[in-house]
Amino acid sequence: MASNETSVTPMMAQFLEIKDGHPGALLFYRMGDFYEMFFDDAVAAAEALDISLTKRGKHQGRDIPMCGVPVHSAEGYLLTLIRKGFRVAVCEQMEDPAEAKKRGSKSVVRREVVRLVTPGTLTEDGLLEARRHNYLAAYAEIRDGGALAWVDISTGAFNVAACPRVRLGPELARLSPREMVVQQELPDELAEIIREGGAALSPLGAASFDSAGGEKRLCAAFEVGTLDAFGTFTRAEISAMAAILDYLEITQKGKLPLLRPPVREGIEGAVQIDAATRRNLELTRSLSGRREGSLLAAIDRTVTAPGGRLLERRITGPSRDLPLIHARHDAVAFGAAQETLCGRTREMLRRVPDMDRALSRIGLERGGPRDLAAIRDGLGQGARIAGTLGEADLPEILAGAVRDIAAIPELGAALDAALVAEPPLLLRDGGFIAPGHDAELDAARKLRDEGRGVIAAMQAEFAQETGIAALKVKHNNVLGYFIEVTATHAQKMLSPPLSERFIHRQTTANAVRFTTVALSEIETRIHNAGGRALELERALFARLCGAVLDAAGPIGLAAAALAEIDLALALGDLARADDWTRPTVDEGRGFDVVKGRHPVVEQALRRAGGSAFVANDCALSDGHEGAALWLITGPNMAGKSTFLRQNALIALLAQAGAFVPAQSASIGLVSQLFSRVGAADDLARGRSTFMVEMVETAAILNQADDRALVILDEIGRGTATYDGLSIAWATLEHLHDVNRCRALFATHYHELTRLGERLDGITNATVTVKEWNGEVIFMHEVCIGCADRSYGVQVARLAGLPEAVLKRARVVLDALEQGDDGTRRETLIDDLPLFSAARTAAAPAAPAPAGSPLDARLAQVSPDRLTPLEALSLLYELKSLA
Ligand code: ADP
Repeated sequence: MASNETSVTPMMAQFLEIKDGHPGALLFYRMGDFYEMFFDDAVAAAEALDISLTKRGKHQGRDIPMCGVPVHSAEGYLLTLIRKGFRVAVCEQMEDPAEAKKRGSKSVVRREVVRLVTPGTLTEDGLLEARRHNYLAAYAEIRDGGALAWVDISTGAFNVAACPRVRLGPELARLSPREMVVQQELPDELAEIIREGGAALSPLGAASFDSAGGEKRLCAAFEVGTLDAFGTFTRAEISAMAAILDYLEITQKGKLPLLRPPVREGIEGAVQIDAATRRNLELTRSLSGRREGSLLAAIDRTVTAPGGRLLERRITGPSRDLPLIHARHDAVAFGAAQETLCGRTREMLRRVPDMDRALSRIGLERGGPRDLAAIRDGLGQGARIAGTLGEADLPEILAGAVRDIAAIPELGAALDAALVAEPPLLLRDGGFIAPGHDAELDAARKLRDEGRGVIAAMQAEFAQETGIAALKVKHNNVLGYFIEVTATHAQKMLSPPLSERFIHRQTTANAVRFTTVALSEIETRIHNAGGRALELERALFARLCGAVLDAAGPIGLAAAALAEIDLALALGDLARADDWTRPTVDEGRGFDVVKGRHPVVEQALRRAGGSAFVANDCALSDGHEGAALWLITGPNMAGKSTFLRQNALIALLAQAGAFVPAQSASIGLVSQLFSRVGAADDLARGRSTFMVEMVETAAILNQADDRALVILDEIGRGTATYDGLSIAWATLEHLHDVNRCRALFATHYHELTRLGERLDGITNATVTVKEWNGEVIFMHEVCIGCADRSYGVQVARLAGLPEAVLKRARVVLDALEQGDDGTRRETLIDDLPLFSAARTAAAPAAPAPAGSPLDARLAQVSPDRLTPLEALSLLYELKSLA
């Protein structure tokens, strides 16, 4: 039958049907060793991946665009696509092409989408950052209650929390989920909040959020009769969890990842920190968006990836639970004190693999031999660590961790016996089960290997028999084993008597290939034995995976315990090495830091090898119940911002369970942490600088309670002087009178210091500088009192402003300082002779006025074209003109 241009080939029909079932995703359509993409998918992928776009056949009279990526390197391409915001449906061949052929020549290999790859559902190490969580979140609202559920399927951690709409922004900022499941019709306000969180949005229908049906699905997934086993959940919480479950079923094609039972997190349990504060304090990312330069990077001494992820969780969600905070400090104190024991333990921890992620891959049937080895090594190493640490008198958290590790010695031993020391990456090729573990496997391997030995012997035999020394027995996937001679010997092989025994298979440009009956027989034997060995290995793999999954609970517990130990010892190590101290955290409202330091700035100064960091005290506690504010003045570059931030970070570290960079620190529990910096440009969001500043300040004034810690840096800077001063003034009063919180307020408006003198809870402080020979020297010392002046002109000199401008600025400043009432400023402009300073400063070296003969002559000169001699005579000439 002649092919009709408009007909659809069976394969294309299959492609289109599968594609139809997965709208919104690129379809990776498996064809042999490639994933192929067609039509618009191909065009989009070719551009995103920078690979060539070709075509294959026609559809409805038009060429079909196509591109493809090799299966063995698909992971890298997937990563690029996911990063660029695509979702990918991976469609595999579900049978051997030979099977399809048996059904008829037109029959197409059966294919199915086995998985939808989306940003929030990644499990492969290559696609994940080892030290970061990868959260998929869902938000649900039922009547007036809201709830946020989130899961990291690469570790199985599943959490849910009641979350009213106003708290959603800060929660998303804390977790920074990569992907967010939401109801199809979102109210605008909610859509805006979620979009600001930066996650990819995945809308689902209302049925997925239905709480009644959801409860049943959750019970089924966790194999419990009622969810009460895990706590009491609100309707909204159940709805959010159910939506996550549904989305996982859709993307994992009905296969659920290994989820831990949901843990209900009271949002009230953590310090509230909004997105702007996280950014300003550079908790996990510096302002440039990278990990370097952040608090996390500066303090992370963990030696395992799960330990690193735990540190990130602690830093992004410091606790408000006093007993828990104290228990964590106990653990860090142990780490700091026991240098030898902890050093030894940390060395052992270095060899603990990421069991959480290995376990999750095994659970999704995406695991390989190395994931089993990771569990084996993790359990083995864990037992050794528990043994070593267990000898000491441990604080509660570490003692609990040691108990949690010791749970499953049998599984570790079984894996140990079954696996080779360093298994290969892929299950496909076998070779990971240790010799001596399974008698049948050993026998099959022996047969296979003997066969290979026989073949080597056969080559020598054939060479002797034919008299062709260069004869070789080779192997490829098409022919299997074959005998190869160069073209020069072809005639001899093709003529009797040799042709009677050697059967011709193939002639290539330079060689001719043959086989013999004996060779084919041996080949079949090797093939069968090899196939049998692989089959046996696969069965053993499945059995071991089953055993691992049966022990998923205790393995997860052991992994969490090892992360906890890693973190406590890492923070202890940091405390010892960098001279950090154990903070006191209590129910009070005090804030008393002696010789505090900024951990990131201090580290940067140390690296630069210049001057040392100057430690500073901060005592906000003044004994009474009202506000406790410090108003800090001082010139630019003196160290105001650094001082503000270091105190916020010290409070945060203390409640994160860490020690702090100070000589001593006593902190009354902080409920909310706010940090704002005046006039940060935010062009990306299309708001004016000043508008952003005001919106952010408003959020603080509206939300801060009397346990909040607020730091405000140069608020009001983004507008005209008097506007700015008035706003700063009113803000300070509001914090003092209404919010009654603890706050540090840095400003260059000296006028504000009068407020400090008038209001009870405000203390004036200043960062000292010294002036020496007209230059300013920054002492970086914070002391009680007011700055005498701002030294702006001196700072401008340091920045390299021209001398003339500096002199003029001095004149204006002196005049301004003489008459310090507002009206004087208005008239000053008239009184001061304009440009006088510039003129006097410029006088000695005044250039010739434009239009002079010297100018005219100079304009004609082109130095590049002058010879040295011409240059010299030109110089004489110019001199005569001057
Ligand atoms: P301001 O906010 O007053 O303009 P910053 O806090 O930005 O000043 O500090 C300016 C620079 O001074 C910092 O980058 C840091 O290098 C240095 N610095 C600040 N505080 C200290 C300190 N306590 N000890 C040593 N150097 C400091």
